[in-house]
Amino acid sequence: MRKKILVIEDEPSIAENITYALATDGFEPVWCGTGQEAMVRLGGGGFALVIVDIGLPDVSGFDLAREIRRTSPIPLIFLTARSDEIDRVAGLELGADDYITKPFSPRELTARVRAILRRAGGNGEAPPVDTNRVAAHFRIDEDGRKISYHGVPLDLTRYEYRLLLHLVKNPGRVYSREQLMDRVWEEPEMSVDRTVDTHVKTLRQKLRAVRPDEDPIVTHRGEGYSIKASR
Ligand code: CA
Repeated sequence: MRKKILVIEDEPSIAENITYALATDGFEPVWCGTGQEAMVRLGGGGFALVIVDIGLPDVSGFDLAREIRRTSPIPLIFLTARSDEIDRVAGLELGADDYITKPFSPRELTARVRAILRRAGGNGEAPPVDTNRVAAHFRIDEDGRKISYHGVPLDLTRYEYRLLLHLVKNPGRVYSREQLMDRVWEEPEMSVDRTVDTHVKTLRQKLRAVRPDEDPIVTHRGEGYSIKASR
């Protein structure tokens, strides 16, 4: 059976070279151009190895690797544009099995892939990645309608809870005030901006009471809010 390899690379010409080389060498490459799409694919399982470009449009390859590593031991190779982009030690600490600097020869790439798969053993199929993402330091208990931050349960109003729940479950994603109003509030309020801003403000106060030195909610000027994906 041909082993499936997920290639996460936003540059079509490079992605094409890689997928062509892999396919020629007997693998079944699957290409995607963003971290978000990659997580959806990985959630479906069936891949033997992932190749991750460090410079992706929506997320850094390092963060993506960290996210994948949280729940999956799937073999991982970093692609980097410059040799100084990656500190080998840092990359390997993140759980990468290897890294390849562009430009590279297709033969070099497939040789590395083969070597890593040989080392990994098994039937060449890693279990699906758990894509149930939650922002760092938060814990959600949806049945109990509770969110903990650094192990401390937060005392939240109904809409603070719903707002924080939405952000925490979608770390790194930026939401406009209108989007948050749509997704969090049951009935739209007259003043969208003020309602959302007020709730963000009280949420920040409650989070600061737990950790005065951290501010996990990020304000994106003119765009909206997000919650930090990792520490
Ligand atoms: Ca890139």
